[in-house]
Amino acid sequence: MKFSFFQFSFDELKNYIVQSGGNADQARLLFNWHYKKNLQTPCEINGLSKKTHEIIYSDLSFELPVIDQIQTSDDLTVKFLFSFQDGKKVETVLIPFNQKYTVCLSSQVGCAMKCSFCHTGTQGLTRSLKTEEIIGQFLAVQTWLTQNRPADDRILNVVFMGQGEPLHNFDHVKTAVEILISQHGLSLADHKITISTSGYLPGLLRWKDEMPSVNIALSLHSPIDEKRSQLIPINKKYPLKDVVPLIEQFPQGKKRFVTYEYLLIREFNDSEEDALQTAKLLAGTKAFVNLIPFNPFPGTQWKRPTEERVQKFFEIIESFKIPVTIRTTKGDKILAACGQLKSI
Ligand code: SAH
Ligand code: SF4
Repeated sequence: MKFSFFQFSFDELKNYIVQSGGNADQARLLFNWHYKKNLQTPCEINGLSKKTHEIIYSDLSFELPVIDQIQTSDDLTVKFLFSFQDGKKVETVLIPFNQKYTVCLSSQVGCAMKCSFCHTGTQGLTRSLKTEEIIGQFLAVQTWLTQNRPADDRILNVVFMGQGEPLHNFDHVKTAVEILISQHGLSLADHKITISTSGYLPGLLRWKDEMPSVNIALSLHSPIDEKRSQLIPINKKYPLKDVVPLIEQFPQGKKRFVTYEYLLIREFNDSEEDALQTAKLLAGTKAFVNLIPFNPFPGTQWKRPTEERVQKFFEIIESFKIPVTIRTTKGDKILAACGQLKSI
């Protein structure tokens, strides 16, 4: 079986070409054709040598994940169900903001973290995705966008907030990020990419030295360990006192924040006391708080909070001069909103 071209970072492709007896400089032409032009046919750029052509096109495949199903919501959010070569499936969501789009990528089939409020978590982990399967979601969505929406529409932001815990699949997510930001590849700005984590410490320990300088978001959901553990079981092993100080070291540059996602659940973590404790934990740090009213899914025990509670929570955080927003729910009618994805 052929292996995929889309598994390689730019440097890895150069090494691959050299090891096969070719010239490393040719990697630029290949990245240009397959990423910048988003083509899966053999590269026709002048200057590609016969030798490189042979190395690349006799051994590598350019297959993208297959779109099994597409659902479009009234708000123009699009949810894709992709299937991979082994028949496993994930969901990917394209979210519009005035002709600019954010794509929400999945990093695993299912998730091992088993958070009690998450539809993906209820299915357990089937397997991690390979780099080419992560990049493949981006390329396939981009192709769909060019064919189905006005020519100027572009994907500007990428968030790893789909299915899976990205830091539990560190190597493949990291290589995918390298391709997304490579100036020879997809040329996205590093500050337009956000990786969201439940606080998986082994991955966070590698982040500082190994991950390109993309944004980090921590799913906080409660500043109180006892409550947080009820929502995110790995909090018992990796409590906030270990996770928060580590994450605060990551953002590079003055304007960079750490996003703290706070899922608001009715009568569980939406009280004024919860808001005060959250503000005390985060005041004076690089925090940007993103409040997410819980999105229900079939079979869940949790409920969405009232709008008054969300507003009060917002005001308390804001009174501590911590930047805060309420995430508008997009795509919930097609179960494409945060935490609603499930594919098996
Ligand atoms: N595994 C990573 C990234 C995927 S989840 C993480 O947990 O951070 C992306 C975001 O959606 C997280 O903040 C997660 O807590 C949130 N989320 C999960 N289930 C949700 C639900 N039912 N309603 C709203 N947000 C949810
Ligand atoms: Fe996994 Fe994130 Fe869902 Fe938790 S919230 S089960 S870490 S995908």
